[in-house]
Amino acid sequence: MKLDLLVMTVHPDDAELGAGGTIAKYVAEGKTVGIIDLTRGELGTRGTAETRRDEAEKAASILGVHMRENLALRDGFFRNDEESQLQIIRAVRKYQPEIVITNALDDRHPDHGRASVLVNDALFLSGLRRIATTLDGKEQEAFRPRLQLQLIQDKYIQPDILMDITAFWSIKEKAILAYTTQFNAVADDAEPQTYISNPDFMESTKGRAAELGRSIQVRYAEGFTARKILGVTDLFHLI
Ligand SMILES: [Zn+2]
Repeated sequence: MKLDLLVMTVHPDDAELGAGGTIAKYVAEGKTVGIIDLTRGELGTRGTAETRRDEAEKAASILGVHMRENLALRDGFFRNDEESQLQIIRAVRKYQPEIVITNALDDRHPDHGRASVLVNDALFLSGLRRIATTLDGKEQEAFRPRLQLQLIQDKYIQPDILMDITAFWSIKEKAILAYTTQFNAVADDAEPQTYISNPDFMESTKGRAAELGRSIQVRYAEGFTARKILGVTDLFHLI
């Protein structure tokens, strides 16, 4: 399957939090969209790798993505080394996405920045034909997406581009809330509360989307950064 858009982020739920509206928008427009989670989020304070897997599947079906895979790198301890890079290269060459969105280069959770550098490095290497990889015994072709972007999650980062997700906010919210062990937890729940399980977190996520939206005069938006100057072929597509 060839993908138009691939969101490749480190923890199940990063894709929903940073790009859920954009994912839902492109699914609605008939693009092929996928998510690859690099880890199973097994170090999360609440829930387990198994509950996260079930929640991620539920969120994927709410968003309507065409595929979701997990590379099962070690949460918290994965490295930007040859082994991790080759896993990502194999996946990128398999799905040949036009656009890849990954984590923020700098964020509260150190995994986010490390994953972002890892994915960015692997995307470059994926385009080098002398790096040989195979899939099901067949040699893969070199492939590099034409655009890679970083989403914005916890830390406020000045975006390079904003996407109007007003019509897709409710799908994004539903997909986030599919992670029932992580967000909007009930107060008498037996597990320890965290800053993301407190209902204030969802309120601030919505506030962030509204604040970003306000700067382009729409109700809700998601922001992205790019490591290159972004170009368009049609100024009339800009709002
Ligand atoms: Zn995360």
